[in-house]
Amino acid sequence: MPKLPIYMDNHATTPVDQRVLEAMLPYFSEKFGNAASRNHSFGWEAEEAVDRARGQIAQLINAKSKEIIFTSGATESDNLAIKGVVEFYREKGDHIVTCVTEHKAVLDSCRALERAGKASVTYLPVDKYGMVDPDAVRKALTDRTVLVTIMYANNEIGTIHPVAEIGRIARERGVVFHCDAVQAAGKIPVDVERDNIDLLSISAHKIYGPKGVGALYVRSRGPRVRITPQMDGGGHERGMRSGTLNVTGIVGLGKACEVAASEMAEENRRLLDLRDKLQAGIFERLDEVSLNGHPTERLPGNLNVSFAYVEGESLLMGLHDIAVSSGSACTSATLEPSYVIRALGVSDELAHSSIRFGLGRFNTEEEVDFVTGRVTHEVKRLREMSPLYEMARDGIDLKSVQWKAE
Ligand SMILES: *Cc1c(COP(=O)(O)O)cnc(C)c1O
Repeated sequence: MPKLPIYMDNHATTPVDQRVLEAMLPYFSEKFGNAASRNHSFGWEAEEAVDRARGQIAQLINAKSKEIIFTSGATESDNLAIKGVVEFYREKGDHIVTCVTEHKAVLDSCRALERAGKASVTYLPVDKYGMVDPDAVRKALTDRTVLVTIMYANNEIGTIHPVAEIGRIARERGVVFHCDAVQAAGKIPVDVERDNIDLLSISAHKIYGPKGVGALYVRSRGPRVRITPQMDGGGHERGMRSGTLNVTGIVGLGKACEVAASEMAEENRRLLDLRDKLQAGIFERLDEVSLNGHPTERLPGNLNVSFAYVEGESLLMGLHDIAVSSGSACTSATLEPSYVIRALGVSDELAHSSIRFGLGRFNTEEEVDFVTGRVTHEVKRLREMSPLYEMARDGIDLKSVQWKAE
């Protein structure tokens, strides 16, 4: 029996890796300098640590150190990239191409620009696996397009977009390509050169680093990309993001990237095995279950399943000692079915019955076996109480039933 509760929601956040914590600790106390203090050793020590972190992050995505700008997290990175580009290139145009399954940090940044009359936005659809068609990107580009923003991998269904192809199309047309790579960088190989990415957002707490720190990669050449800063002040980070640097957080982000880079291949094999075991276990024991997301082009730790005739929220309650997610963590304050699952063309009922399992570095096979058992038991129990499931099993076509109003 594994230790309870079990954490299996690693797309929402991850625990800080012990190695990351240890790298951070000295920078809270004895090495407390301000990285912007240029005239004493305390400042130099902090600056050195920040520079080391810049190198570790750059290496993970095949960038150069000076192309990394530190932020308070990926929400800020997304805002800075999108609003920064639209503001800087406003003479050139005002059109953005994005996609309906993006994270709220991207969608709401676009909406804010639309509402302010600063941009018009094309929201591309996705196919039934949640993938955007590069050809649709090509067709959406106009002479006014200044930005394409498409995520690397989706945080709910794990689908990995054909990013290199999208980047190539944007590059050919001289349009800046921003990629929210929060769920991909540190999990699967990301390479800003191979993938033709101009701006890229990452976040520490999704890769076993601390919360409240992230970075934006800004391409310096081939082509040089410019953004208008969204925060005014001391001109830190080459003028693109003012504010005293969060040295401890930055050290943590750097260390998290270093660990991720060195263990990625092995960790992915392990996660893929665990994920496939969880998926097979659930699909063998239950009928009327369906996978949300791409069958193969998907993050190794992701499994999103719809359990027909079961409310996701009821299932979560039954699984009280297992931390998983129904819909998206970011929208779970409202009981709207997930906009990502709906975008796949899935019915509202099935969207409401979806559960996201997010496997991570610290999950074990014992936990996977336990979760498989608990989920199948709970789904069967809830279905036993469901008249709809009963009718469907008796061969009644529910779509043909004439429901009587009260
Ligand atoms: C978590 C997440 C974000 C937001 O990152 P924060 O650092 O928590 O602000 C943005 N995009 C995606 C895809 C995410 O998963």
